[in-house]
Amino acid sequence: MIEPIPKPAPSPTTSLQRGAIGTIHRDALPIFIHEPVLEDILDYSEQDPGRELGGFLLGGLHVDEFEYVEIRHFRPAVEVHSRAASLTFTHDTWAKLTREIDEQFADQVVLGWHHTHPNFGIFLSAYDLFIHRNFFSEPWQVALVVDPQRQEFGFFQWKQGEVVDCGFVCVKEAAPNP
Ligand SMILES: [Zn+2]
Repeated sequence: MIEPIPKPAPSPTTSLQRGAIGTIHRDALPIFIHEPVLEDILDYSEQDPGRELGGFLLGGLHVDEFEYVEIRHFRPAVEVHSRAASLTFTHDTWAKLTREIDEQFADQVVLGWHHTHPNFGIFLSAYDLFIHRNFFSEPWQVALVVDPQRQEFGFFQWKQGEVVDCGFVCVKEAAPNP
């Protein structure tokens, strides 16, 4: 059971936010993502427009006046089975992720996953929902879908037992820690 760690949420007074993008649901956890991480993900997503790529979103579950998630790192998924319109994480994918977290990101949690939909748009398929329900079932875990050909992307999160599309806040630059 992961408990949220108290930390002031990025705000216009503590960071340069690019502002909210999309619909931020009132009763769901706000998602903050650092701009360089989002850029990394979009660059990685364009590396192979012919098949699906995936990865993992690492960061923190925090609480300020409200709970929120802050995405601070992206790790590409390795050892995946990838085709034009499907992506499967293997035992080795999870093993390598676990090792990377242990060795390099011990203070981070897996906030969710990312995968691409080359030229078929932003949604979660039945299989994507199966993955989300089985491997990312914590109420604070999110999914990010990127279509590198249409240059679109979107987040999804849990809301009252359903996985719904949602907005996020892109944090341009964190203020120095006091
Ligand atoms: Zn998908």
